[in-house]
Amino acid sequence: MVVDLRKRTCTCRFWQLTGMPCMHAISCMQDKNDKRAEEYCHEWLTMEAYRKTYAFHVNPVKGQDLWEKTGRPTLVSPPIKPKPGRPTKNRRKDKDEEGSGSKTRMKRKYNPI
Ligand SMILES: [Zn+2]
Repeated sequence: MVVDLRKRTCTCRFWQLTGMPCMHAISCMQDKNDKRAEEYCHEWLTMEAYRKTYAFHVNPVKGQDLWEKTGRPTLVSPPIKPKPGRPTKNRRKDKDEEGSGSKTRMKRKYNPI
């Protein structure tokens, strides 16, 4: 594998994809006695970025019992209207499921002649 520490690339592409140096790059760093592997990580993977992400917090929402009362009527779902025609008896099968046919009865199989 070809490693470029300046461009932070390796031909195995692990470093480019994850932002973390791969084992090839780490061995190069150790050979060069260069900076620590953590210093070659992408800035998104640093502890500072993690702290920035969670610097602000989201307050939990109060439960429905604690909501402010408006005095307006509550919302009600619309009534269910019966569809025209006879209601279907059988469940609609999914695409993955097999077609109609009983599972207890077996089909007769004929060997090719
Ligand atoms: Zn590599």
